[in-house]
Amino acid sequence: MALWSKWIIHEHEDQRAAPSTWPKIAVPGPASIEDVKRTVIQSCHVATCDAADTEYQSGHVVIEGGRIASVGPGLAPAAAAGVETETIDAEGCLLTPGLINAHHHLFQWSTRAVSQDETLFGWLTTQYPIWARMDEEIVHASAAAGLGWLALTGCTTSSDHHYLFPERGGDLLEAEITAARRIGLRFHPARGAMDLGQSAGGLPPDSVVEDRDVILAATEAAIDRYNDSSEDSMLRIVVGPCAPFNVTQELMRESALLARRKGVRMHTHLAETADEDEYCEAHFHCTPAQFVEQLDWLGDDVWMAHCVHLNDEAIERFAQTGTGVAHCPTSNGRLGAGIAPLTSMLRAGVPVGLGVDGPASNESGRMVDELHQALLLARLRGGPLALSARQALRTATVGGARCLGRDRELGTIETGKLADIAVWDVGGLAGSGIADPVATLVFGAPALHRLFVGGRQVVSEGRLLTADEEDLARQAGRAAEALRVRAAGGFYA
Ligand SMILES: [Zn+2]
Repeated sequence: MALWSKWIIHEHEDQRAAPSTWPKIAVPGPASIEDVKRTVIQSCHVATCDAADTEYQSGHVVIEGGRIASVGPGLAPAAAAGVETETIDAEGCLLTPGLINAHHHLFQWSTRAVSQDETLFGWLTTQYPIWARMDEEIVHASAAAGLGWLALTGCTTSSDHHYLFPERGGDLLEAEITAARRIGLRFHPARGAMDLGQSAGGLPPDSVVEDRDVILAATEAAIDRYNDSSEDSMLRIVVGPCAPFNVTQELMRESALLARRKGVRMHTHLAETADEDEYCEAHFHCTPAQFVEQLDWLGDDVWMAHCVHLNDEAIERFAQTGTGVAHCPTSNGRLGAGIAPLTSMLRAGVPVGLGVDGPASNESGRMVDELHQALLLARLRGGPLALSARQALRTATVGGARCLGRDRELGTIETGKLADIAVWDVGGLAGSGIADPVATLVFGAPALHRLFVGGRQVVSEGRLLTADEEDLARQAGRAAEALRVRAAGGFYA
């Protein structure tokens, strides 16, 4: 049992039994999810996000065996005799593919609203020493809260980038994988890493970086233990050195070799701020994009977070190589990083998805809000034609699926694809007076009505089915409080 739990018991006598009930590896299954054989959702507006952007004003979707068995206009075809069917009348709702979160740091739920007015480098150097005190219970509570919140805001698949592994922290990757299983989302965690501390010219303190051989061995072990490459996979491991200013070139090169040898994807941060441009110029005499290309980090098995400061030449190289980008508009605004060239990237053919980024640089963390923010930032940069509501929706769905290498089976509502579906309430005050449901989703303030992952209902009537929301909030709050106390040196010194 991690030490901070004792502190929690001391401070919260009413929670005396809590630590022993906190899940470690064995987690209660999603018992509240009913295993219905055939589910029909009908009488709703269906935005398929397929190649023709097909929409049905009043359409249906049929789910069977975790996949979409039928989609089309009008009511669903009748079931064969004897097939048990649950029929959901979704009149007044909009049905879309589940949103795909292409970039996150779930552990940062424990430091929300810390360093509120900093640039990226100032923000990081304030938080590194706090994150150094994390352990598996803090990470589990943070990840469960973050994933629950993503589910409630329309996300069916999330990536994560966990790059900080304190020596005494326990198995942090397992802690977040356990949380994803508990909440019931499809999960693509990157075993991230930093190996370039301050003494070697990097940004993070030496206390939070790892040895390169340890990183590579741990990453390979995580792939061997967890990665499921099957088409309906709920869990895929990603190789993820953190960023050019906190990893060595050797780690970048060897990580790429490892990922390609194992057939898994690669993810890192790139060109987030002007500071990073200066860092790369000073240390490597090139741009961040040129730097990663030299290290074999462009390709259709790679996607990068941010790319705010890509020039036209870099955008062209990303398009030529199929390298993806996770655009994180809220986080970029929160840290004053700049406005990414989203329109230029989409026009060039770069695969672009949307990401909420970590809760310490996007405290709201609502997946659906990223569509709104992407549209606003694109238009602030490029005018009113820079991005349409439907382009924003496609970016958050099929664009994210391309980044994660899942566009064959995710990202659109088409027969045969996995039944990852969001149903939005576009009525009420939020949608009143807006005739176009997709406009309500992107310009307005829709509420999630239901969420299905592989046909299993995770959210119903706007409530999470797989976990108690108040428990998630309470446990994540205690985790953040414990981390604050530790970071202040009051305990676990
Ligand atoms: Zn990030």
